Amino acid sequence: MFYKSTRNSEVNVTSAQAIAQGISEDGGLFVPSELPKITLDELRQMGDLSYADRALFVFSKYLTDFTGAEIKYCVDGAYNTKNFETDNIAELAPLFDGTYMLELWHGPTCAFKDMALQILPYLLTTSVKKIGTDKKVVILVATSGDTGKAALEGFKDVEGTSILVFYPEDGVSAMQKKQMTTQDGANVGVCAIKGNFDDAQNGVKKIFTDPETAKELADNGLMFSSANSINWGRLAPQIIYYVSTYAELIKKQAIDVGEPINIVVPTGNFGNILAGYYAKQMGVPVNKLICASNANNVLTDFINTGVYDRNRAFHTTISPSMDILISSNLERLLYHLCGENDAQIREWFGALAKDGRYEVSEEVKKALSESFCAGFCDDEQTKATIKEIYDKYSYTCDTHTAVAVKVYEDYKKATGDDTVTVIASTASPYKFSGSVLSAIGAEAGEDEFEKVDKLAEVSKLPIPKSLAELKDKDIRFKETIDKADMKQFIFKTLGI
Ligand SMILES: *Cc1c(COP(=O)(O)O)cnc(C)c1O
Repeated sequence: MFYKSTRNSEVNVTSAQAIAQGISEDGGLFVPSELPKITLDELRQMGDLSYADRALFVFSKYLTDFTGAEIKYCVDGAYNTKNFETDNIAELAPLFDGTYMLELWHGPTCAFKDMALQILPYLLTTSVKKIGTDKKVVILVATSGDTGKAALEGFKDVEGTSILVFYPEDGVSAMQKKQMTTQDGANVGVCAIKGNFDDAQNGVKKIFTDPETAKELADNGLMFSSANSINWGRLAPQIIYYVSTYAELIKKQAIDVGEPINIVVPTGNFGNILAGYYAKQMGVPVNKLICASNANNVLTDFINTGVYDRNRAFHTTISPSMDILISSNLERLLYHLCGENDAQIREWFGALAKDGRYEVSEEVKKALSESFCAGFCDDEQTKATIKEIYDKYSYTCDTHTAVAVKVYEDYKKATGDDTVTVIASTASPYKFSGSVLSAIGAEAGEDEFEKVDKLAEVSKLPIPKSLAELKDKDIRFKETIDKADMKQFIFKTLGI
């Protein structure tokens, strides 16, 4: 199998090349040239495997240029109980009748990003070796809070790499900020920018695709790559937990083999939900993929009308990892839905860059509505939902997951659809203790760790060790820069 660029279908690279490079030179994203299949029988048998072995099975269909031993090295290095707090890696917790929380936050940084970013350093260093370059890889990350920390943990002190993370100064939670600014490791850098996530992401994308910058790096024995979900090596690992979840539901006898499920995903950059779409295309029986947004509801409008329009107010919400108006991975979905028409993608995304708006064709609208539904809720509704499920089911969830629960409740009311449903639970509530406590109606002082203790008291959930340890850590990264100065910061840090 090969990988093409969404902006040039002639591009033909191996998975190792796609992962090492991160983004295509034309600014497009790498997508597989064909979507591999999985049979119901394979899904049934998968129930007997460990998470790492399920991952091995699925990866071998996508990373066809990797040897079995290479993939095994990657999955065993990532998906183990040294890195994750549970044997199952991802947990499936029943919420109410026929509805499950897919808890993807039992990794070292307590957000679903760990599911991919624990394995990405293995995939990336293996890819770099396979393509035969001797360049050192510089990972650039724009983060809305969770990717940054997860990437830092994944890449810290990984030989042959350095990692630089940019986050919006006022756009992350107190705990997320503490996680990133206290990061250890000899090859890491963290910097706040004056702007929002879209500014950070655009800045990184621009630096990536600038030929002059690439040359300056190459002259210094360096190359860029990405740990954002624009990198195929971030996206592929996310397909696995949806495939694995279906196998798990069969094993639990929660569904019959072949019975469709709904998947609800709190969405920002569209990476997580796109992974659900790939699982569906592989043959996992999925009825609807339900896209949940916060007040930044550009995706809700897009899925409901076919018009993508980012010309709207940007809202800072209590679910900051979804405060995004330009969802990168939508480009991959549209490439598949429009029959891999790269000219069409260039036109739409050219219009997005120029006017902030595009409208897809009637065929694409129809295809979108076949697989997807969408809804959104505001902060008040998010908080009310946290309280409701805390009171009703004694389950404490984070602000992002609550958006998904609310959108699902609305969907169910509107459609009466009682298909078995899996809600992606994307972060531990401890990453957003202040908002979760105020939703539940419990009060704590100003100090973040007082809030954590209070949340432990009311939720009865154990405090993740990695978060408890931050309390006594010193702040190491204090710099804030203008978004125009990102390149300068990178070069300074790299000593160029
Ligand atoms: C990143 C993130 C999201 C959004 O995921 P995308 O793949 O960007 O759509 C949702 N919730 C949490 C907690 C996150 O960290």
